[in-house]
Amino acid sequence: MDSLFPLDLHFGGIDRAIGVYVLDCPEGPMLFDCGPETTLPRLEEALRECDLELADIRHLLLSHIHFDHAGAAGALVRRHPELTVWVSEIGAPHLVDPSRLERSARRLYGESFDVLWGGLTPLPEANLRIAAGDVVGWDAFPTPGHASHHVSYLREGTLLAGDACGVRIEPARTIVPVSPPPDIDVELWHETIAEIERRAPERLALIHFGVETNVPDHLARLHEELDTWAARVHDGMTQDEFRAAGLADAGDDAEVYDRVAPYWQSWLGLQRYWQKRDASRAADPAA
Ligand SMILES: [Zn+2]
Repeated sequence: MDSLFPLDLHFGGIDRAIGVYVLDCPEGPMLFDCGPETTLPRLEEALRECDLELADIRHLLLSHIHFDHAGAAGALVRRHPELTVWVSEIGAPHLVDPSRLERSARRLYGESFDVLWGGLTPLPEANLRIAAGDVVGWDAFPTPGHASHHVSYLREGTLLAGDACGVRIEPARTIVPVSPPPDIDVELWHETIAEIERRAPERLALIHFGVETNVPDHLARLHEELDTWAARVHDGMTQDEFRAAGLADAGDDAEVYDRVAPYWQSWLGLQRYWQKRDASRAADPAA
């Protein structure tokens, strides 16, 4: 197994917020997630620190299309047209035409959209492949919950987890089930965690941030935190109360967690989840 360590993109000037991975595949170097357009210069610098140029990368494997993971994908292909990009079937159309994604994100982020994410460059369909089954030697499988279109990749005990295993800024102990809108699904996320437990990886490559090796403990606590967060919102905590409770849980690490996985966003995501669920229950009590 090749060495496994995150390339710190120093997103927003913060250390250990977003870290992507460069690994070997049979055709040459590959990337797991690429960060947003705003950190593209830093990504190229980090690759050079590994004696690589952008043009050396053969494949980009994406976990999901949230900007902190995939925002730079289109811009990367524009600079390096030979790059093959793997993403789930649901995510693919939004990379080809990111206009709807950008519109809804601008509503959520307001003026900070440009500062955080820069932009979204459309990705030519010819460069895209659907991530399912064998992906350059990795086993790609759906890991919905954090997002409906999330996939993870497993090979030789290493799970390229993305956000399916939550956020944990290694070596901090706090794990947060980051739940941004629009399609967080608590039940599906529990099923995903159970599927990962069944596959029993030895290490989790987290984008936020680092490699976790005590996998059973991490996954058990992620189940618990997910239930705690979902209940807090369902029981009527306001956004401020939810954030205060999260900050208290995170202790000394509170500030970095609030910047990397903002509590206000997770409150909004869970709020929307419960509204949709309660509405569908009302329409069909057997659901
Ligand atoms: Zn995400």
